[in-house]
Amino acid sequence: FEGQATPGGNAWLTGTVQDITERKQTEEQLASYRAALETQVRMDPLTLVANRRALDEALASECKRALRGGAPLALLMIDVDHFKAYNDHYGHQAGDYVLQRVGQLLAQAGRRPLDMAVRLGGEEFAVLLYDISLDEAQQRAESLCAALEQLQIAHEASTTAAVVTLSVGVACLQPQPVGALTQLYERADRALYVAKGAGRNRFSYFTPDL
Ligand code: GH3
Ligand code: MG
Ligand code: MG
Repeated sequence: FEGQATPGGNAWLTGTVQDITERKQTEEQLASYRAALETQVRMDPLTLVANRRALDEALASECKRALRGGAPLALLMIDVDHFKAYNDHYGHQAGDYVLQRVGQLLAQAGRRPLDMAVRLGGEEFAVLLYDISLDEAQQRAESLCAALEQLQIAHEASTTAAVVTLSVGVACLQPQPVGALTQLYERADRALYVAKGAGRNRFSYFTPDL
């Protein structure tokens, strides 16, 4: 703004337009930072899959939607077998690399837009699948175990196999408005415990007698 005011006030007008442009740029920048942060708080930084917060939010909102539509959800609870022994044998950094490979594998497991791969923490992951039967969910669990085995990541310290393996617990749920989330976690977790006890590198699914 040069200060060359004219009787028509054009100089003022120019100054005002510049101000708005700058403010708009700042606002756009803040909005993009905000969007980036919003993504980061729902993402696991090591594996770049979703974190537990994202899963909890998806379940909380999706349970309501699925209840209306009557579509079942399946949760696969996934745990890397003998992972402490892997770290002890190959080092923590090699262990981190395994977690990244597992994360990539699980991210490819989804078929529907809302399906979600999650790192719950440590060497524990989950996959949330929408609108899927227990039979299909079991097939997906089985193919995940097979797919990781096929990656052939050597694990000399494992007593289950010569390579890194997974155990999976499967639970399906017809969503309900109350208690659905904890039910799904609990059931998948109990099934995972059964898969571990049955020898690892396998899946198990929740049945009421578990
Ligand atoms: P199981 O077959 O029964 O599942 O045994 P496990 O050894 O896999 O299970 P345990 O819970 O005893 O050990 C989990 C290990 O995961 C221990 C911990 O050092 C390791 N771990 C947790 N978070 C990370 C991580 O971010 N990076 C690496 N490299 N290791 C991790
Ligand atoms: Mg574990
Ligand atoms: Mg483990």
